[in-house]
Amino acid sequence: MSGPRLLQGARVLDPAQRLDAVMDLLVVDGAIARLAPAIPAPENAEVIDLSGLCLSPGFVDVHVHLREPGGEHKETIESGASAAVAGGFTSVCAMPNTDPPIDDPAAVGFVLAKGERARLARVYPVGAVSVGLEGKEMTEIGELIAAGAVAVSDDGHPVWDSGLMRRALEYTQVFDIPVFSHAEDQGLSGQGVMNEGAVSTALGLRGIPNASEDVAVARDCLIAELTGGRLHICHVSTAGSAEIIRAAKARGVRVTAEVTPHHLALTDEAVRGYRTDAKMSPPLRSASDVAAVRDALVEGVIDCIATDHAPHHYEEKEREFDDAAFGVVGLETALGVSLQEMVLGGRLDLLELVDRMASKPAQIAGLPAGSLADGANADIVVFDPEERWECRADRFCSRGRNTPFKGRELVGRVVMTLVGGRTVYDRRGERADARATVKVSEDVG
Ligand SMILES: [Zn+2]
Repeated sequence: MSGPRLLQGARVLDPAQRLDAVMDLLVVDGAIARLAPAIPAPENAEVIDLSGLCLSPGFVDVHVHLREPGGEHKETIESGASAAVAGGFTSVCAMPNTDPPIDDPAAVGFVLAKGERARLARVYPVGAVSVGLEGKEMTEIGELIAAGAVAVSDDGHPVWDSGLMRRALEYTQVFDIPVFSHAEDQGLSGQGVMNEGAVSTALGLRGIPNASEDVAVARDCLIAELTGGRLHICHVSTAGSAEIIRAAKARGVRVTAEVTPHHLALTDEAVRGYRTDAKMSPPLRSASDVAAVRDALVEGVIDCIATDHAPHHYEEKEREFDDAAFGVVGLETALGVSLQEMVLGGRLDLLELVDRMASKPAQIAGLPAGSLADGANADIVVFDPEERWECRADRFCSRGRNTPFKGRELVGRVVMTLVGGRTVYDRRGERADARATVKVSEDVG
């Protein structure tokens, strides 16, 4: 075990303690030992000066696709976990739609072991609801949880059989874990490849109507109400589903929800030019939907931000729009995009953003994360909320390059990430070099 580390002078943001102040933080044995305005450095401590930077609980992403096993050309658990820490995420929940799917205890154990071996972000497996993700026979959910699954989902596909959804929402209550729902009526989605509206008409592409999502969200909320189970709606994209979730919460239904950074930032206009990097499921929607999901995140109707990080190989995106794969990567742009849209956009303050990216998602998945309380895991992100940077997909740690933010200037960037007190990502040297270069060129000029 390494010695104590004293993180000095950062603006500390901890929603769990409603804390936003310049503080020192002492890490001992991988846990948070003390948080106070001025902590004298213990004799053997490594002192790290973080003045001018923000420090918060590491971000938690309840929705990532790490593609392993079976899709290692797109991403591996290790490359995905390195993308996670580069984006400030210290815990991620890996969806089970791999090949083979995570539908038995051995597969859950495989994901856990690979995650532990990578020693980067903590990787928590989500088990499948149905065997083979086929939507027919329910998995042995109790065994999946005993092996380490933190939730169940058939994400990538909806659980189309309402009876199966009912049984899943009943059975998971024994373990108090949520069912993560990819809410989509595939009959309404049909062969659609983007949002149904003026842009799809202009481009001559088949549309996916808002109703495809709204119908499924309504059904799931009603089944959660019937059973009393814990439902989590993935990637909310429409004004209608936000409204349905608001009403369900008001009735006391146990439902939570997430929104992706791309659904907060982009409309279906991004598809113009047949840009396959803007093709995802659910699709980018209209401006009024974007406004509605932003408002819902501010109000707490949508609880958290999740990336739905979905890496694809170059070849799977460099196709005709109709044939290209659905999905975008998101781990390494989540902070920059969300901070720009929600904080610089004047909708949330930084503490509230950290709440949506760390504390709330940790609560939803029941993870030991999202707080800087005494004794908590020292899972920490240090970021510069003002750093401007160009999104360069060729520099991603992820194997996926499929981002609609390519070439865009983002504001807010991760500087350093710690998991269990250990540095797993560090850009301080690069920043010091950049400053030195600026200094030299100023001197020359
Ligand atoms: Zn999904």
